Amino acid sequence: MRRLRRIKILATLGPASSDSTMIRKLFEAGADIFRINMSHTPHDKLRELVTTIRSVESSYGRPIGILVDLQGPKLRVGTFADGPVQLNNGQSFVLDSDKTPGDATRVHLPHPEILAALQPGHALLLDDGKVRLIAEETSPTRAVTRVVIGGKMSDRKGVSLPDTDLPVSAMTPKDRADLEAALNIGVDWIALSFVQRADDVLEAKKIIRGRAAVMSKIEKPQAIDRLNDILDVSDALMVARGDLGVELPLERVPGLQKQMTRMARRAGKPVVVATQMLESMIQSPVPTRAEVSDVATAVYEGADAIMLSAESAAGKFPVEAVSTMNRIGEEVERDAVYRSVIAAQRPEPESTAGDAIAEAARRIAENLDLPTIICWTSSGSTAVRVARERPRPPIVAITPNVATGRKLSVVWGVHCVVAEDARDQDDMVERAGSIAFRDGFVRAGQRVLVVAGVPLGTPGTTNMVRIAYVGPSSEASL
Ligand code: PGA
Ligand code: MN
Repeated sequence: MRRLRRIKILATLGPASSDSTMIRKLFEAGADIFRINMSHTPHDKLRELVTTIRSVESSYGRPIGILVDLQGPKLRVGTFADGPVQLNNGQSFVLDSDKTPGDATRVHLPHPEILAALQPGHALLLDDGKVRLIAEETSPTRAVTRVVIGGKMSDRKGVSLPDTDLPVSAMTPKDRADLEAALNIGVDWIALSFVQRADDVLEAKKIIRGRAAVMSKIEKPQAIDRLNDILDVSDALMVARGDLGVELPLERVPGLQKQMTRMARRAGKPVVVATQMLESMIQSPVPTRAEVSDVATAVYEGADAIMLSAESAAGKFPVEAVSTMNRIGEEVERDAVYRSVIAAQRPEPESTAGDAIAEAARRIAENLDLPTIICWTSSGSTAVRVARERPRPPIVAITPNVATGRKLSVVWGVHCVVAEDARDQDDMVERAGSIAFRDGFVRAGQRVLVVAGVPLGTPGTTNMVRIAYVGPSSEASL
């Protein structure tokens, strides 16, 4: 089974999509990688979902990625004595270290580190930004604030602090336990929420020790200020527009999305655009025009993947949401303007053998109008560097490592096949052609481009391109 688009689809699983029949349908409709959100998933459910996805994977014989998304330090207020309270514009409101249930004048803030870091003038956004407070007086036990945008407040609503550099790690004790459960069962990607600095990523990587790749969710202004450093130590980025739009003015989100997709592409690291892409499809079988346009924008920008959250996890039309993304991806990528936008944003190759080969591979394949570029890759890095070139023909990546195949499920344009390593160069070229033929990327009588590092199996040795003829006997040599 092959996809007819380069951009990948990341679908979140949840109550609307947790049985094997539904996961199969989502895969068939176009989901390339699944996200399990640990904010809503107990460990037994996590294990069940991973087992189900792996069995779907083996029945289709196609690698499928699994991304486990850690909740991160979601901050919340305490409780109120007599139910919800109304905060009025201009009134003062106190957040303190007193555990007594609150009222319309004060509430407990069960995070001493926030009270300690908060400074006069800093904003506090409650309940996804619906209520806005500005700190006036601060101390380690008590903050007096002024209500700028009033509204209703109730027990344990979330608190965002866009101006405060929080001395908290991106991983809570719950995240550590969730991470351990995920690594034990074996997943491909770990997403870190509310990353503020490169050290947050490094801290997670120290625990992960290469057992999964790390995707940093960019959803805090502090992370925007340090994007280069964070990208340097991350394996991928997620433009987490939900919380980003709470912590920053909404109108800044589109520009930041463009900035992040370009930065990630330049670095050759996958970037996922997430949240509210087809929000209305939670309730409706058809999206709005604006949503279609938003998804199309991410495709035109050359993002590696687009994500569904509640649309596939808890909505009424999970399959329709995936197939809508699939159709938008296919259609946009057929548009002539798409190729010109993608080409105009192409970053220069870095001065490495891998990039020199990747650039040459794209030029040769486009010049000769070859139907596919086939990469032999053990770590996946050759395929990723070729994908960075955003070549016109699709990329087929052949790897002996199933973990590599699954990880590449989020990378633009890469159709990954897990196969035994080649015996020698001739075997490599011959089997490359056969596999691409079998999966529908080339017809007999056409030529393909094969990229590899020889000797095979030594990572970081990309040093070869070969134009190979795919003969009528291709099927036989599989
Ligand atoms: P979430 O992350 O769905 O875990 O909050 C994505 C976002 O904030 O956009
Ligand atoms: Mn978020």
